Amino acid sequence: MTDMETIVSLCKRRGFIFQSSEIYGGTGSCWDYGPLGVLLKNNVKRAWWRDNVELRSDMVGLDASILMATRVWKASGHLDHFTDPMVDCKACKRRFRSDKIDEEPWTHYCEAAKGNKFIIPAGEACKHCNHRRSLCPACGKGELTEPRQFNLMFKTFMGPVEDEAAVTYLRPETAQGIFVNFDNVLQSMRLKLPFGIAQIGKAFRNEITPGNFTFRTREFEQMEIEYFVMPGTDEEWHQRWLDERFAWYPKYGMTKENLRLREHEKDELAHYAKRTADIEYKFPMGWSELEGIANRTDFDLKQHAKFSGRALEYFDEETKQKVVPYVIEPSAGADRATLAFMVDAYNQEEVRGEKRVVLRFHPELAPVKIAVLPLLKKNDRIVETAKKLCADLRKRWYSVYDDTASIGRLYRRQDEVGTPFCVTVDVQTVGDDKAAADDKVTIRDRDTMQQIRVPLANVPEIMSKLMEGAWAEIAASADYKIPAKESSSL
Ligand code: ATP
Repeated sequence: MTDMETIVSLCKRRGFIFQSSEIYGGTGSCWDYGPLGVLLKNNVKRAWWRDNVELRSDMVGLDASILMATRVWKASGHLDHFTDPMVDCKACKRRFRSDKIDEEPWTHYCEAAKGNKFIIPAGEACKHCNHRRSLCPACGKGELTEPRQFNLMFKTFMGPVEDEAAVTYLRPETAQGIFVNFDNVLQSMRLKLPFGIAQIGKAFRNEITPGNFTFRTREFEQMEIEYFVMPGTDEEWHQRWLDERFAWYPKYGMTKENLRLREHEKDELAHYAKRTADIEYKFPMGWSELEGIANRTDFDLKQHAKFSGRALEYFDEETKQKVVPYVIEPSAGADRATLAFMVDAYNQEEVRGEKRVVLRFHPELAPVKIAVLPLLKKNDRIVETAKKLCADLRKRWYSVYDDTASIGRLYRRQDEVGTPFCVTVDVQTVGDDKAAADDKVTIRDRDTMQQIRVPLANVPEIMSKLMEGAWAEIAASADYKIPAKESSSL
C-alpha cells in the first residue's frame, strides 16, 4: 500500500488531479481533474452507468438540477438534521468534527519531556507522560469549545433579491432529485415494481474538515441509485444490492482484500434507515467508506407526499391497491471510487535495477488505452505509419502518439499513467535500403512488459482481444513470438 503523498504528487505531475485555484494558493477542499484525470473519472462513471442502467431492464436514468425548491430540504430532513457536531479551538480558531477529531495525528507539548513538541499518531497516548489528547490537535495549545451542530448545506440565493424568500441550497446529495421525480418517471416510462432510477451528478457539502485528497471535499460527484420495491421485499433486495455492489469494484480490478463491508450499528443509523452497510476501502489513511447502501424504507416518498400534497404511490395491478414503495439506495462517490481505483492500481517495482512506477488499471478504466510510439522520430516513414495507426486506433480506443523521448523512457511514461498497451513502429515495419518492410509492429504489455510482433493490418482485431484480457493466450501463439535478441527495451 502506498501513501497518499505519493498519489497526490503523481496526480499532479502526470496531469490527473490539480488543486483548485492553485495559483491563488488553492482552496484545500476542492480539486480539478486534469487531462488524464477527467478520462479516468469519466471511465469510472461510464462503467457504473453501463452496468447499472444500460445492461439492466429494471433501471432508468435521470439528470436532475442541482438547485431545487427549498421545501425539498425541509421535507427530506436536511434542513433540520443534516449536521455534523463541530468544535472550535479557542486559540487558533480551527474547526473540527468532534466525532472524527481523534482520527488524525495530534500535536502535543509534553511537560514530562521539557515541553518539547511531538506529533502523536491518531488515537494514541504520549509515550512520555501517558496523556491523551484533550486540547486542539492542530496547535496543541488551545482548549476546544463544546460540540455544536453545524449544517453542511451550502446556502445560496435564487433570483436577484438576496432576501430570505429567495434562499436555496446546493444539493448535498443527488437522491432527492430522484424522489421528487418519482411520479414523473413512473408515469412517463410505465414502470413496474421493482425498478430503479440512477443518477450521476455533483453534490455539495460544507464539510468541517475536508481532507485526504479527493476523499472528502466540499464539491464532489455522486453515483446514486434509488431502487423502488414492494414493502416486504425490501430486506431481500437490500441484500441483493449489497452483494451486487460489493462485486462491482473487483470487476474492474480492485483488490478484494482491500474491500470490506461494514454494517452500521443501530445507534449510527440515519433517522430514515432500517439497515445500512458501507462498502469500505483500505485507503492509505485506513479503512474508509467508498459507498453506502441503505434501506430508506418509504420515508422519502411519504415525506415528499406530505410536504407537496401530491400522492407518490404505485398502483399494484394484482391487489388493486395503492402502495408506497420502499427504497434501497446504493450511494457511491465518483471521486472516492476514482481515488480508490488509483491507489489500488499503484505499484512500484524494480526492473533491471531501476525503479518502475506502474498503474495497473483495468483496460476499461485506463485513461489512455494505447500509446503508439515510433522507434526513430527522424524516419518519415516510421512517423507517418505510426501517426496513421494511432488515428485508426483512436476511433475505438483513446490512443496517443508520443515521440518525445527514447523508447525506454516512453514505456516508463506510459506505465506511470497506466496505459495497458504500447505499439512500436520501427525500421523493420517500414523497411529500408537493406531490407524490405515486414509490415509488422511490436505490441508491449504494461503488466508483464512482454512483447509480441503482429501484422500491422491485424492490430485492431488483436487489440479487441487484448482489451478483454487475452494477453497470455495471444502472447503464447508462435505466430507472434519475438526472438529474445530482437526484443527492444522493456
Ligand atoms: P462520510 O461518513 O464519509 O462523511 P457519508 O456517510 O456522509 O460519508 P453518504 O451521505 O452516504 O456519505 O454519501 C454517499 C457517498 O458519497 C459516500 O459513500 C461517498 O462516496 C460520497 N461522499 C460523501 N461525502 C463526500 C465528500 N465530502 N467528498 C467526496 N465524496 C463524498
